[in-house]
Amino acid sequence: MTHATILLVDDDTALLDALSEALRLRMDGIQIDTSETAVDALDRIRENDYDAIVSDIKMPGMDGLALLHEIRELRPATPTLMITGHGERDLAVQALRGGAYDFVQKPIDRDYFVASLERAIQLCRLDRQVEEQRLALERHARVLEHVDDGVFLVDDHGVIQHWNPAAEAITGISSDVALGRRAENTIPGWSMVAPLVPVADAPGPGSLEAKVLPIEVDGRELWLSISGVTFSDGIVYAFRSLTEERALDELKGEFIATVSHELRTPLAAIYGSAQTLLREDIELDETGQKRLLGVIAQETERLNRIADDILFANKLDSGQFALGENTFDLRTLAKNVCDELRACFAARDDISIHLSVPDALDSFVADSDKLRQVLINLIDNAVKYSPDGGRIEVAVEQRDGGVRISVRDQGLGIAPLEQRRIFGKFYRVDPELARGVGGTGLGLYICRELVRRMGGRLTVSSEEGKGSTFVVELPVEPVSSGERKAAVAQGL
Ligand code: ADP
Repeated sequence: MTHATILLVDDDTALLDALSEALRLRMDGIQIDTSETAVDALDRIRENDYDAIVSDIKMPGMDGLALLHEIRELRPATPTLMITGHGERDLAVQALRGGAYDFVQKPIDRDYFVASLERAIQLCRLDRQVEEQRLALERHARVLEHVDDGVFLVDDHGVIQHWNPAAEAITGISSDVALGRRAENTIPGWSMVAPLVPVADAPGPGSLEAKVLPIEVDGRELWLSISGVTFSDGIVYAFRSLTEERALDELKGEFIATVSHELRTPLAAIYGSAQTLLREDIELDETGQKRLLGVIAQETERLNRIADDILFANKLDSGQFALGENTFDLRTLAKNVCDELRACFAARDDISIHLSVPDALDSFVADSDKLRQVLINLIDNAVKYSPDGGRIEVAVEQRDGGVRISVRDQGLGIAPLEQRRIFGKFYRVDPELARGVGGTGLGLYICRELVRRMGGRLTVSSEEGKGSTFVVELPVEPVSSGERKAAVAQGL
């Protein structure tokens, strides 16, 4: 045993010398400090963390038992051997009860003494190693508490033994729920996902690339980039959420699909009309020519609207848009919008648009152009999504502190799950156009953004097959532009 440092305490200097000598001879590299009094010994113990201490029990002043008591307080992990006089069994028992590691009786059997001391030193070292490992583990655990990646440990029995706060934040599954439970009962779909997760034998360079896999927690789909490393008694998994990136990818995909679909329809109509006009083998009368030119004009107008919607949504998102503010009469605005749309949809004689407005309305301050845009969009949708016709009711009411404008139709209605999603960008309930109505899925997104920026809100209530009601609620007092900016910044 090398480099052990021990302290010998005895008032008998001759014994101290003899024991030191004997230990040096028998234990390689041992370092020995000596003290003739318990008080001096305590000073040394305070300064040095000995591998073991050997003390006589009977000493003048502070005796060995009192010293033992102090050592237990100061250095509880340091093993202490007590030397007792011949036949002093009671003292020896007291020493053991007081926490001594062992005792040796005088006259001292050197072999036994050395063997016991070696065991004591060994024990002390093992204790220290265990403590160091425990501290290192604690440190690692603390580090894991602060990493952004979700980390969890699944032991050989499939039970989750560690679940860090990032894992909790990403999945919404709390560590109280996860710890001590089988992974497959905690992480939805884990039994299917786990075999697909790449698991390396050792961490570091060359370990396997993480795989992006979906799990579904409480109806939310999460896309996790996840990989694992085998551990002495299990697998440590690390993951991060790619849900937003994935959603963005999907949005891009939806955007391209919607836009190309929406562009193709008017382009095909324009192309077809132009081709017919160009054909020399067909004689077209003036009415026929006008009809085809009308189609070209109308479809070009539609292309324009699509481009406008896309550009406007982009302007809203990039913060390049500021609302205006003017005083206007909401009664007149609502009447004009309804008249325009009645004219627009004159061909739809299965549809009727009704407006109810109070006789008198306070003059209103907002961005009248944008409010017009919102109403046109809502009524246009009401007509578009009423393929079997019906009554569309537009109602303006003055309410405490604001106005409420509702647009009610008797059309297709919207399923409960879809009601929140329709306000999302490019979201269309029926992208395959099963009911043959085109659109970009941007209208409601733009409407909600505009109303929000006016300090109000746009909501929907609907029943599938019965119809929908869209409601715009606006404060009468316009939000000053400063407040509005703050509201927008806070995402209100
Ligand atoms: P677009 O009409 O261009 O598709 P919107 O953002 O205006 O885009 O609407 C999104 C989706 O919401 C529509 O595709 C449609 O399915 C649904 N929707 C909007 N208004 C109504 C309505 N009044 N009745 C039924 N569904 C509607």
